[in-house]
Amino acid sequence: MFTQSGAPGGTGTATRPRTGDARRYVNAAAVLRTVLDHGPVARSRVAALTGLSPAAVSRQVVDLTRLGLLRERPGSAAPGAGAVGRPQLPVEVDTDRIAVAGLHIGLPSTHFAFLDARGNVLYHRELSHRGRTGPAVLRPLLARLPGLLAAVPDGRAVVGLGAVTGGAVDRERGVIVRHDPLDLRDVPLGALLAEASGLPVQVDNHARALTQAEILFGHPAARRSVVHLFVGHVVDAALAVAGTVHVGPASPTGDVAHLPVPESDALCPCGRTGCLAVAASDTTLFEAAAAEGVTERPDRAALVAAVQAGDPRADRLVRRRAEIIGRALALLADVVNPDLLVLTEHFSCLDPAYLDVVRTEFARRSRLRRDAALVVAQRLGADVLAVAAGAPALSALYARPVHALAS
Ligand SMILES: [Zn+2]
Repeated sequence: MFTQSGAPGGTGTATRPRTGDARRYVNAAAVLRTVLDHGPVARSRVAALTGLSPAAVSRQVVDLTRLGLLRERPGSAAPGAGAVGRPQLPVEVDTDRIAVAGLHIGLPSTHFAFLDARGNVLYHRELSHRGRTGPAVLRPLLARLPGLLAAVPDGRAVVGLGAVTGGAVDRERGVIVRHDPLDLRDVPLGALLAEASGLPVQVDNHARALTQAEILFGHPAARRSVVHLFVGHVVDAALAVAGTVHVGPASPTGDVAHLPVPESDALCPCGRTGCLAVAASDTTLFEAAAAEGVTERPDRAALVAAVQAGDPRADRLVRRRAEIIGRALALLADVVNPDLLVLTEHFSCLDPAYLDVVRTEFARRSRLRRDAALVVAQRLGADVLAVAAGAPALSALYARPVHALAS
């Protein structure tokens, strides 16, 4: 029933459709995307926005509705609509019938989630790795996957599985090329997950997946150009221009881990000092908090609790990291000159005061004198890992809806 498909924009392994089918697939994607952006929206407006004929739009709406992706919005007929025959109700993305699943394989745990067609989190569960690394992380995950998928809420059809992780990921082949903190090398994750789940699987680097989620569901400026910086135990970044996340030749992802941050003297395993991944990572922050006696052990929850309890030492550590991030963002913005910078970092997402520290330092350092408002915190909050996990599957769905769903 399901066709194993490659990443959106990639070659994948799908059979090449005939010309008429190809046009139909492209039109379906254009209609679905327009309804996502503008819905609830009249079919006539979809036609105007896409340049398709009203008849072509109507055909696509019928198909996409049958596939569980669109629905009519009752009680909201546009004035003047349906002068002849049955009134045409506006259409919107159906959030009730399908779901995608996602795995965010990170440190120290994996997040499993179901998302609806608008990227809303339906279900989210954290699965600890119990300190394991390497292939021992994946074996129990693969064994549990069928059971996890069976728990889809409301009898929805699960139409795809996304899997994301930090480090270098080859999304064309669905392979984790290298993830140092998890000690994973050349793992054919896409094939393993497809075998365990029977679903079409999309694998991606999580910074790219989050950038994709921003393009689909986030700030409108992200459609023009956006740099997304993720700061967690892993520090990485992704770039998208005109709605397309950049992958680049051979190199499965850009690497900002060793971007030298001014005025930082932390020693990096690469032998230099001041590399972003060491200066700004969660690992460094949590260890510093433990070393200074702010927390009993290096732990996110403990540091969050200290910050929320008003511990000035915790506040100082978090502010210091926010300044480092502001400097790194200024470097990235000066190189790329994007329309938007999205930051995913725990404390600036939690408290606007820390985002302000990032922004102030960013504006002070930006040689292009970009405005502080260029930097926004990613808005998904606690759902961020869940949305990142499902984003590759949603992205594939929006890129090729009929292809992804047709039986
Ligand atoms: Zn380094």
